[in-house]
Amino acid sequence: MGKKVLVIGSGLGGLTAALRLSCDGYDVEVVEKNHQAGGRLNQLKKDGFTFDMAPTFFSMSYEFKEFVEYCNMDLPFEFIELDPLYQVNFSGSDRFYTVYKDLKKLAQEFKDIEPDFERRMQQYLRSAATIYHDTEYRIVKKNFTSLTDYLLQLTRVPIRNAPKMLRSMWREMEKYFTSYEVKVIFSLVAFFLGATPFDTPAVFSMLTYTELIHDGYHNVRGGMYKIVEGLLEEMKKRNIRVHYNTEIVDFLTDHQGVKGFRDQDGHTWESDLFVVNSDAAWFRGKIFNRKQYQPEKLDRKKWTLAPFTMYLGVKGKLNNIHHHNYFLGNNFKEYASKIFKNSISLEKPYYYLNVPSRHNPDTAPAGHEALFILCPVPDLRYKPDWSDREELASHIIEDLSVRIGYNIEDNLVSKTIYDPVKWKNMFNLYQGSGLGLAHDLNQVGGFRPGNRDEKYGNVYYVGSSTVPGTGLPMAVISSKLVTQRINHEQKPVHQKQSANQQVNNP
Ligand SMILES: Cc1cc2nc3c(=O)[nH]c(=O)nc-3n(C[C@H](O)[C@H](O)[C@H](O)COP(=O)(O)OP(=O)(O)OC[C@H]3O[C@@H](n4cnc5c(N)ncnc54)[C@H](O)[C@@H]3O)c2cc1C
Repeated sequence: MGKKVLVIGSGLGGLTAALRLSCDGYDVEVVEKNHQAGGRLNQLKKDGFTFDMAPTFFSMSYEFKEFVEYCNMDLPFEFIELDPLYQVNFSGSDRFYTVYKDLKKLAQEFKDIEPDFERRMQQYLRSAATIYHDTEYRIVKKNFTSLTDYLLQLTRVPIRNAPKMLRSMWREMEKYFTSYEVKVIFSLVAFFLGATPFDTPAVFSMLTYTELIHDGYHNVRGGMYKIVEGLLEEMKKRNIRVHYNTEIVDFLTDHQGVKGFRDQDGHTWESDLFVVNSDAAWFRGKIFNRKQYQPEKLDRKKWTLAPFTMYLGVKGKLNNIHHHNYFLGNNFKEYASKIFKNSISLEKPYYYLNVPSRHNPDTAPAGHEALFILCPVPDLRYKPDWSDREELASHIIEDLSVRIGYNIEDNLVSKTIYDPVKWKNMFNLYQGSGLGLAHDLNQVGGFRPGNRDEKYGNVYYVGSSTVPGTGLPMAVISSKLVTQRINHEQKPVHQKQSANQQVNNP
C-alpha cells in the first residue's frame, strides 16, 4: 500500500477524490463532521417522504463517465436526461413557459413574444459554444502553478472572447433577444452560480450552451442521493474507511509539514497527505488561522447567495406541475439588485420548486407529493437573524398555492425549513453562502483558493470552493485536478487496480 491520505469531508469532491486516489494506490481514509456522507449532495427522510437536500439535477454528465473510467468501475447510479428541462411562471400570469432542449419546440413556446427566436437562439448558442470550447482545456480543466501561470493561460484564450469578460450576462442577452421573459428565463443559469445575470460575466453564457446543446440536465433514478450511496458502495469495496461525526478543529505540524489534524474529541488523525474537502477559504482561515482568510478579509469578498430551503410533504397529486419549476415576479432587475443586501421584501420572493415524486414515486407515500423549495436569500452578513423564517415560508406556500391552484397549507402533512444559519452550521459554509465564493473574474482560476496549500506541501484541497468552481460536475473535475497534482508532486505509488481486483487481492 502506498502513502496514506486523509480526506477531510465527504462531499462529492471528497468522495470522488478518495476513490481516484485509492485507485492510484494510496491508502485512503475519510473523516466527516456529519452523521452521513454527501455534504450538500445530501438527503432528508421525514414523515415517510424522501427529499434531495440541495442539488436536484446536474449537467456535464460526461464528467461522471470520465471519473468511472478513471477508477475502472461501472457508473454506480443511473442518470436520466431531462427534456423538457424546466418550466417558468411569472407572477400575475397563468402561463407556464416550458424550456425544451429541441430548439424548434422551444421556438414554438416563445413565438408570440420573441419573433425569430430560433435564429437568435442559434446565434446566442454559437457564441456561448465558442467560449465553452475555448476555455474548457485552457482554463477550466487545468491546474495552475501560480497566478502568473494562470494569467499566462488566459492570454492563450482567443481574443474573440474578451468582450464577454467585460460585459454582464444580462447585457449579452440584450444583444440577442428583445423579450423580457426570454431574457429572464435564459439568464436564470446565473442563479446556478449563486448570483444574478447582472453581476455574472457573460462568459458564463456557456452554461446555456451546456444546458440546451452540449449535454443538457440529468436527474438520477431513485433521487440524487443515489450518487452518494453508489460511491460509498465502491469505497467499501476498496476498503476506504469513512469516520462520521468527526469534525476537524485543529492541526499539528512537524519539520515535514502537517503531521495530523485533531477532531472535536481531541483525537489526532495522522497521515502522509491530506485532502481538504471543507470550504477551501474557510478552512485556511479557521483551522490554519491564515491572516488573509480571517472574517474581516473574507467579508470583503463576493459570496454567492444563501439558500432558504423547504421540504414539504403534501396530500394529493399536483399533476399540472413539472419536476423543475421557477416562480418569478415581474421586477427581475430590481429584485436582483436588492437581493444580495437584504433590501428585498420577504413577501414576494422568487423561488424554485422541485417535485422529486414526479420522477421518483417512492419519495412520497401513495397519493402524496414531495416538494422541495429553494429561495435564494442574502447571506448572514446582510441578514443574520432568521427568527422570521416562518413568515417567508408562509408567503412562499401562499403564493405557490395561488399559482398552481392547489391549497398547499390545508394539505400539508410534513414541513421542514432550513435557513442560512442551519446551512452554515451543517457544512461549515461561510456566512451560510450556498455555493461559496462567487464566480467573478477576480475570484476564479488563479484567483480562487488553490488546490495546493501555500504553506504545507502535504495539504491539498478539493471541491467546489477551490478550482474550477461550483456545482456537481465541477466538484468531480476538481477531484481530477487535485489527483493529477498529487500524483505529479508526490509520485504515483503503484499501478491502478479495479475495485474487483482489490477485493480479490487485498
Ligand atoms: C441549495 C443548493 C442547491 C444546489 N443545487 C445544485 C444543483 O441542482 N446542481 C448542481 O450541480 N449543484 C447544485 N448545488 C451545488 C452543489 O451542491 C455543490 O457545488 C457540491 O455539492 C459541493 O460539493 P463539495 O464536495 O465541494 O462540498 P460539500 O458538499 O460542501 O462537502 C464538504 C464536506 O466537508 C464536511 N466538512 C466541512 N468542514 C469539516 C471539518 N472541519 N471536518 C470534517 N468535515 C468537514 C462537510 O460536512 C461536508 O460533508 C447546490 C447547492 C445548494 C446549497
